[in-house]
Amino acid sequence: MNIDKFTSVKYLQSTGYKYFMPEKVNANWFWSDPQINSLLERASYLFSNSIFLMKKLLPILVFIFSITACSKKIHDTSIISKSETITIAANAKDTLEWINTGTAGVIARYKTTAIIIDPFISNPPIKKVAFGKIIPDTALVEKIYSNEILNQTKAVFVGHGHYDHIIELPAIAARLNPDATVFCSNSTKNLLAPTSLNKIVDAEQFAVNHLQEGTWLYNSDSSVRSMAFLGTHPPHFLGITLYKGNAKKPLKKLPNRAKQWKLGTALTYLIDFMENGKPVFRIFTQSSSCKDSVGLFPATLLKEKGVDVSFSGAATAGSRIAYLQRTIDIAQPKIMVLTHWENFFHPFNPSAPEGIAKSNIPKLYNLLQQSHGNKTKIILPQPGSRFVLLR
Ligand SMILES: [Zn+2]
Repeated sequence: MNIDKFTSVKYLQSTGYKYFMPEKVNANWFWSDPQINSLLERASYLFSNSIFLMKKLLPILVFIFSITACSKKIHDTSIISKSETITIAANAKDTLEWINTGTAGVIARYKTTAIIIDPFISNPPIKKVAFGKIIPDTALVEKIYSNEILNQTKAVFVGHGHYDHIIELPAIAARLNPDATVFCSNSTKNLLAPTSLNKIVDAEQFAVNHLQEGTWLYNSDSSVRSMAFLGTHPPHFLGITLYKGNAKKPLKKLPNRAKQWKLGTALTYLIDFMENGKPVFRIFTQSSSCKDSVGLFPATLLKEKGVDVSFSGAATAGSRIAYLQRTIDIAQPKIMVLTHWENFFHPFNPSAPEGIAKSNIPKLYNLLQQSHGNKTKIILPQPGSRFVLLR
């Protein structure tokens, strides 16, 4: 039908009144007016753009909604541990100290050897994370990652490439001990290519599943060794994991937006502080929760040395409690420190931490205490708090 001749409604007479009757539009159309071509092109362009925008924006908007609507204040603050000294041997002679720097971040030290796990404290607000550039809070970074600590740092471990596990690393690179070895995934190594870090080990190529013993990887002076295991990253919300994928080639410019800090492969690490060729303190770190035994390690590895402290991520939905219980059953740590439990879109503020979205942290903590508190000391650390283990 020629659209030029088409009338969309007819005005009809009824008994005592008139009414409009729409015409059917299911016809084969043609037209001669060129203006219709440009109007249709414009409409199709706007339609496809809005679909594209919705596809891109919808996950971010749902993410913002779920974060802002579901963060929970911790009313019973007695479950949060502040600086504490833990003695687990009568005549203790060895000391391990650590600071929980918030989210999954840890600085741990034995004598004058320090390690850093998942460096992140800047906590940019959610609107910056979703739509803007994220830049480290330099003053705070310098305060927490002091020159003394960075001089003593011999190894850095990155669980995965998301910004909340890594963005302070480029910021501390210039002050970091030049002999410090960074252990991370292949993708994260590519993300860090533009930094001045010169000892980055792709631990992913040595990583094994939880049923196998892998390879011990040593740092420059053999004061620290680690074995990497393949972990996973649970979805952030509605089955969606944000910022997935890999950096396949070494980057030329450092990422400055959250979405550019790609997940890569999530790794967990068994880490030993070494003295005279023997492990003195053993740490297990798993920054993102997994299911079943994924990310854990075979119990045969405990014959040489038991785990002193496990740093276990409590964030995200799903079967976290089961995974934390299984971690205690298999890794048998003397102490389990729950990490990644607070709302990291709030500024680094040790006085009033709020639980991470969609999590009932007090419930999780209490359930774990009930089921496994008799086997392992469980700690929910205040961000910025310092602990000493005497053994
Ligand atoms: Zn992540």
